[in-house]
Amino acid sequence: MISPNKDVMNFQPDELTEQVAQTARDFAQKHIKPYVMQWDESQEFPLQLFKELGKLGMMGVLVPEKYGGAGLSYFEYVSIIEEIAKVCGSIGLSVAAHNSLCTGHILSFGNEDQKNKYLPKLATAEWIGAWGLTEANSGSDAGNMKTTAVQDGDHWILNGTKNWITHGKTCDVAVVIARTGKAREKENATAFIVEKGTKGFGAGKKENKLGMRASETAEMIFDQCRIPDTQRMGKVGEGFKQSLGVLDGGRISIAALSLGIAKGAYEAAVNYSKEREQFDQPISNFQAISFKLADMATEILAAELLTMHACELKINGKKMTKESAMAKYYASETAVKVSTGAVQIFGGNGYTKEFPVEKFYRDSKLCTIGEGTSEIQKIVIAREVLRG
Ligand SMILES: Cc1cc2nc3c(=O)[nH]c(=O)nc-3n(C[C@H](O)[C@H](O)[C@H](O)COP(=O)(O)OP(=O)(O)OC[C@H]3O[C@@H](n4cnc5c(N)ncnc54)[C@H](O)[C@@H]3O)c2cc1C
Repeated sequence: MISPNKDVMNFQPDELTEQVAQTARDFAQKHIKPYVMQWDESQEFPLQLFKELGKLGMMGVLVPEKYGGAGLSYFEYVSIIEEIAKVCGSIGLSVAAHNSLCTGHILSFGNEDQKNKYLPKLATAEWIGAWGLTEANSGSDAGNMKTTAVQDGDHWILNGTKNWITHGKTCDVAVVIARTGKAREKENATAFIVEKGTKGFGAGKKENKLGMRASETAEMIFDQCRIPDTQRMGKVGEGFKQSLGVLDGGRISIAALSLGIAKGAYEAAVNYSKEREQFDQPISNFQAISFKLADMATEILAAELLTMHACELKINGKKMTKESAMAKYYASETAVKVSTGAVQIFGGNGYTKEFPVEKFYRDSKLCTIGEGTSEIQKIVIAREVLRG
C-alpha cells in the first residue's frame, strides 16, 4: 500500500518536471509524429533523431552534469519516456534502453575512468549504447548464459552471442554480461564494456518485429573478442548482481513506456468515441463504450501511482525491487488492455493503419516481455512478499 505520508502521496508534477514534459511533448509532436508510420513500416532506426534528443539532454537524463548529462531525477525521466511513448513506443523504448541499461550500468557500476570516458559520449548521444544480457537459450533464466569471458593475462577473451539486443547493430558501445565462472555457480558472471570496432565484436541478425519496429533489435556476436581488463566493470563475479540492480531502475522506465502507450491509446479512444456516431448518437453514449473508458482511466491512474511510488523510493535511495516490478507488471498489462480496448472502440477503423491505435496495440505487447516478462515480475514480487 502506498504510504499515507503526505510527501509520498503528493505526485503532482513540480515546475521542473512539467517544463521537461512540455519540451518532450513539443519535440514528439514536431519531430516524431510526422514520421511514426514511415519508420514503423520500413523498420528504420532513426539515428539522427536520437542525436537531436541528445542535444536536449534526453539521452543522459539521470547522468550528473559533471559527466555531461542533464542531472535530472526519475520523475523527469519518467515524464520524458511517457511523453515520447504517447506518440511512438519505439522511440520511447530506445530512449529508455539507452538511458537505463547501457548508460545506467556504467553510471552505477563503472569506475571514475570508465564514467569519464563513456558517460559524456552516451549522455549527448554522440555514442549510442546497448546492453547485452539475454541469449537465445537464456532469457528469463538469464543467469544460465553461455557467452564466456576467459582471462588471458591483463585481457579477457569473449565468445558467444547475445540476442534481442536493443541497438545491437548500431551501438557505438555495449555493456556485456559474460560468464566468468562455472555454469549454474553463484557469482559466475562479469560485466564488460566493449567498443564498436573492437576486433571480434560484430552484429548478427536484425529482428523483424510485431511492434516497436523503429527500435532496433539485433544479435551481438563475440568471436575471440579480446578486451583489456580495464574494460571490466566492478569485481569479477558481480555481473549478474549488477544486472539485477540495473533492471530494478530499468523497469521503472518500462512502466513509463507502458503508461505513455496506454495514455496515447486512451486519449485517441476518448476523442473517437465522442466523434463517431452510430444509431444517430456518439458511441460514447453507449454504456458498453463509456464503461470501457472508465476502466481505462482507472487502471491508467493506478499504474501511474505505482510508477510514481517506485520513483519516489528510487530517488530516496530506498530498496524498490518489489515496487519497480509491481509498476512494470501492472503498467505493462494495463498498456496491453487499454490499447486492445482502444482498437475495439475504433471498430474497423482501429484495424487499419489510418488510425493510431493499431500501432499502440502492437507496441504495447513488448512491455509485458522486455526487461523481464510479467510472469518473472510476479516471481520477483512474490519472492519479496514472502521474504516479509
Ligand atoms: C524488442 C525487445 C528488446 C529487447 N532488448 C533487450 C536488450 O536490450 N538487452 C537484453 O539483454 N535483452 C533484451 N531483450 C530480451 C528480453 O529481456 C527477453 O526477451 C525477456 O527477458 C524474455 O526472455 P525470452 O524471450 O528468452 O523468453 P523465455 O524466458 O523463453 O520465456 C518464455 C515464456 O516462459 C515464461 N517463463 C519463463 N520462465 C518462467 C518461470 N520460471 N515461471 C513462469 N513462467 C516462466 C515467460 O514468462 C514467457 O512467457 C529484448 C526483447 C525484445 C522483444
